[in-house]
Amino acid sequence: MTRATARPDATRNASPYLYGGEQAAVDQILASGHYGHGRATEDFEEGVARFLGVADTVAVSSGTAALHLALLAADLRPDSEVIVPSLTFCATIHAILAAGARPRFVDVHPHTLCITPEIVEAALTPATAAVVPVLFGGRAVDLTPLHGTLDRRGITVVEDAAHAFGSRCGTRWVGSTGELTCFSFGPIKNITCGQGGMIVPRTPAEAARLRGLRSLGVPASADRRAAATTYEVTTVGFRAHMSTLNAAIGTVQLAHFAVAESTRKHLWRQYEAALKPMQGVDLVDVDVDNSVPHLAVVKVQDRDRVWEFMHARGIGVGVHYPPNHTQPAFRPWHRPLPATERLGEEIMTLPFHQHLGPEDIHRVVDTLQQALAAAGAGR
Ligand SMILES: *Cc1c(COP(=O)(O)O)cnc(C)c1O
Repeated sequence: MTRATARPDATRNASPYLYGGEQAAVDQILASGHYGHGRATEDFEEGVARFLGVADTVAVSSGTAALHLALLAADLRPDSEVIVPSLTFCATIHAILAAGARPRFVDVHPHTLCITPEIVEAALTPATAAVVPVLFGGRAVDLTPLHGTLDRRGITVVEDAAHAFGSRCGTRWVGSTGELTCFSFGPIKNITCGQGGMIVPRTPAEAARLRGLRSLGVPASADRRAAATTYEVTTVGFRAHMSTLNAAIGTVQLAHFAVAESTRKHLWRQYEAALKPMQGVDLVDVDVDNSVPHLAVVKVQDRDRVWEFMHARGIGVGVHYPPNHTQPAFRPWHRPLPATERLGEEIMTLPFHQHLGPEDIHRVVDTLQQALAAAGAGR
């Protein structure tokens, strides 16, 4: 059985996809009575490490927690700055603030919606302690040309790879290039645990530190703890472990990842072929040969009118993302970012998930064409 759930409304913007084994895996955990951190969590960590070809991974409760703990493990100086694109999910910014740092918002390249080495270099200040590239839509961000500069200044790179599980940077998997990498396995990501996240640490010491941070500063797993009369709190930490229930879902999803990869690439190419000849719309490039696409973002004029038109016809259009530097909560760190402000008015996300069929893509594309014509006529 390949489809465990009834086919949801196919033209919603995003939707999890179950392969069929998730239910049995969860039932087995429920019957076991071990729901916290446990053997199933460690199995999932080992599975992801094997997939990526890395020594170790640290599972946590969300992608946001992964970023938060990774930034804490990077030992930022108090009041330091973290370079981050404004065009990201607000979670990235929350993680920086939770780690006690200040976001220094930067623009992105308008063709990729990703930062570039040049953008980062121009934003460096004496207070810069970290850079958080966001691998937008699944596209790898290669900051190798900057490594010399960053190393000399003691600046850590913490990758927000929430969109980019299974993508490649050159010949290597994202997460295996030596950066401190954070994945999300939230409900609509390319792999889901229901909720969850994962950190790829750079050293065994960093892995141990992260394991303490995620479980209230108590490094041993709950199962092992049960066999002792005491436990040791070795550091101040958080409640951010991944439950066995979530991990069991992730292990099933990981086993089927090749399906996610081929389906998402295929859907992306269908959109690309249909939109390329169309006037007035630009599909943001995700480098589909090397990426497992996560979003299908287009840039259009009169975005709000186009969005309204499609929304009124039942097409699940979205905006990823409203820029963060203009959000009320992040006002103190606002600086003018002309490219991002323009993108904030032009970007629109088309439905993109594994339940979509060719007829759905046609309907989305046809409706988009009508919307562009209607918006153009009204201009
Ligand atoms: C989803 C996401 C996160 C946060 O992950 P959660 O698992 O939802 O906490 C962070 N950054 C980006 C770019 C995301 O898309």
